[in-house]
Amino acid sequence: MIVKPRIRGFICTTAHPLGCAASVQAQVKHVKTVANPGTGPQKVLVLGASGGYGLASRIVSAFGCGASTLGVSFEKPPSEKKTATAGWYNNLAFESQAHADGMYATSIDGDAFSDEIKQQVIDTIKADLGQIDLLVYSLASPVRQHPRTGILHRSAIKPLGDDVCVQSLNVDKGLVHEVVLKPADEEETANTVSVMGGEDWEYWIDALLDAGVLAEGFKTIAYTYIGSELTWPIYWHATLGKAKEDLDRAAGTIDKSLASVNGSCQVVVLKAVVTQASSAIPVVPLYNSLLFRVMKNAGVHEDCITHISRLFFTQLYSDDQRLDEVGRIRMDDMELQADVQNEVKRLWGIVSSENINELADLEGYRSDFLKIFGFGLPGVDYKANVDHLMQS
Ligand code: NAD
Repeated sequence: MIVKPRIRGFICTTAHPLGCAASVQAQVKHVKTVANPGTGPQKVLVLGASGGYGLASRIVSAFGCGASTLGVSFEKPPSEKKTATAGWYNNLAFESQAHADGMYATSIDGDAFSDEIKQQVIDTIKADLGQIDLLVYSLASPVRQHPRTGILHRSAIKPLGDDVCVQSLNVDKGLVHEVVLKPADEEETANTVSVMGGEDWEYWIDALLDAGVLAEGFKTIAYTYIGSELTWPIYWHATLGKAKEDLDRAAGTIDKSLASVNGSCQVVVLKAVVTQASSAIPVVPLYNSLLFRVMKNAGVHEDCITHISRLFFTQLYSDDQRLDEVGRIRMDDMELQADVQNEVKRLWGIVSSENINELADLEGYRSDFLKIFGFGLPGVDYKANVDHLMQS
C-alpha cells in the first residue's frame, strides 16, 4: 500500500512503517553520539514505551546505557486495509535495532492498567532478567479500566471552577481562535485523577515488590508537566494538574515502600514537546509553536530524545540533582528561563491568524507532529508501495 498521512483533528489515522523505523533509527543515532554504556540503568522496564517520552527513555536506556529493556504499550497491529498505529511500528523498529546490536529487548502489547499485563511482565522479568533496576512510568491514556472495580474511567481535559476563555490554534488551517472551555465537575476530575494520577504506578510497584523482581537500589520515575501561567488554566490548575498532583502524592508513598530494597522514587518535570498525548490538549499546540520559535532562536530547543538524554546523563544518576521544593527533578529549566517565558508571553499577546507563520514555529510543530506517524523523514520514499503488514 502507498501510505499517506490522514489527519483528523489532532490525530493521524495512518502511520508509515518505514518512516517510523527511520524516526527510531534517527533517535538511536543521536543517542549513540552521547552514549556511555555500562553507566546508568542496566535492566529497565518502560511503561508507555512505544512513543514520545517513553520511547525516548527506552532508546536512551538501551543505546545510551547498554541496558536490557522490556517495554509495555497499547498499540494496534495492522490489518489488510489499515496500517498499524505508529507505536506498533516503533516497537518493531526498536527491537530489530536492539537485537542487531546484541541487546535484550522485548515488547509486551496490552493494557498496562490490567492485572494480566502486570503478571505477564513479572513472568517475563523472572524468566529473562531476574530483576529490574529502573521502571519508567510514561503512560498517557484517555481511559483506564480500574483493575479492582472494573469501572471504565475517562479522563477529561478541562479547567476547574469557571469557564475559561483561551487562545488556541487550529494546526491544520493555521488559524488562531478563542475557545471557551467548560469546567469539569467533581466526577470528571476524579476520573482524570484515576486515569493519569499515581494509583496505577503504586499498583505496579506493589506487584513488582511482592514478586521480588526489584533489584537493590532500584529506581522508579514518572513524568509530569507543570509549564507556565500561559498553560496553567488548562493544565496545572486544571483536571490534568490534579492528576499530576496525585502523581506527586504517589511518589512519596512509593519512595517509602521501596525502603526494603534501598530503592527510590521521583517525579521528573519535563519540557513541552509534540507527542500524540500533548497534541490533544487545547492551547498546547499554540503554546508549543511559539515556545519552539523562541527556544530555537535562543539555541536551547530540545526534542524528546535530546531532552531524555540530558535527563539520563546529567540528572537521573547524579548526586547533584536539580530538585524543586517537593523533590521533583526539574528538566523544564530551559523552558521556564525568564527570557524564554517573557518572550513567549510577549508573542502570546500579539499572535493572530495573520502573523502566526512569522511569530511561531508552525512549520516545526507540523513537522514534529507528522514525524510521530512516520511522515516527513529524510530518506524515505513516500511514493513507493510498502508492506504495511511488515511480513517481508
Ligand atoms: P505518548 O502519547 O507519546 O505516549 C503514550 C504511551 O502510553 C504510548 O506508548 C502508548 O502506547 C502508552 N499507553 C497508553 N495507554 C496505555 C495502556 N492502557 N497500557 C499500556 N500502554 C499505554 O505520550 P507522552 O507525551 O510521551 O507522555 C508520556 C508522559 O510524559 C505522560 O505522563 C505525560 O504527561 C508526560 N509529559 C509529556 C509532555 C509532553 O509535552 N508531551 C511534557 C511533560 C510530561
